[in-house]
Amino acid sequence: MARYLDSKCKRCRREQVKLYLKGARCFSPKCPIDREAPPPGMHGTRRSKSSEYGIRLREKQRLKWFYGILERQFRRYFELATRARTNTGEQLLSILERRLDNVIHRLGFASSRAAARQLVSHGHVDVNGVKCDVPSRLLRPGDTVKIKVRTRSLQMARLSLQATTQHIPDFLEITNNEDPEGRMTRLPSRQDVDPRIAEIREQLIIEIVTR
Ligand code: SF4
Repeated sequence: MARYLDSKCKRCRREQVKLYLKGARCFSPKCPIDREAPPPGMHGTRRSKSSEYGIRLREKQRLKWFYGILERQFRRYFELATRARTNTGEQLLSILERRLDNVIHRLGFASSRAAARQLVSHGHVDVNGVKCDVPSRLLRPGDTVKIKVRTRSLQMARLSLQATTQHIPDFLEITNNEDPEGRMTRLPSRQDVDPRIAEIREQLIIEIVTR
């Protein structure tokens, strides 16, 4: 499976916005965006006017990087979204919100989507009582997720749950705080999208993908 191995902060510097890819570090004074680091590359400090294409491309990249997915998977989700009868952009965001790694993070069981992905791929998560090690699994309403009773994973999830300041979205609920367990109550809508990416202009993304 392809993986992005370069610096995560570089992605934020490219977009010049915080994408919250590193958990606690993103809220510390060490965050390069807070320190006004320039975009990466030799000409990073040079200001250039973006083309219409460039604006749309940056919007798409921002969305992909925020959810930690690569181009091929993004295209697959887009394809899935176009098949739905509802608005394609909203459907795309709803699909991304339903990913298992995203749900673990938004429930507060992991400090970032990357940490959530690791919890899942290392086999520490049960979905509906059965082990699931596929972070891209799309959950359905009624599905439950539970962190396995293994000292380290459980400890990590509890600590993350205590430390989290983020609001649990309405489409999710925590059913057990002690042995972290949660449930998806309904399909996520546009209003349930992570507030840190809520200003994304999905129409621009549709325009670049379908051009
Ligand atoms: Fe790095 Fe997080 Fe800051 Fe992004 S938000 S630059 S990932 S520390």
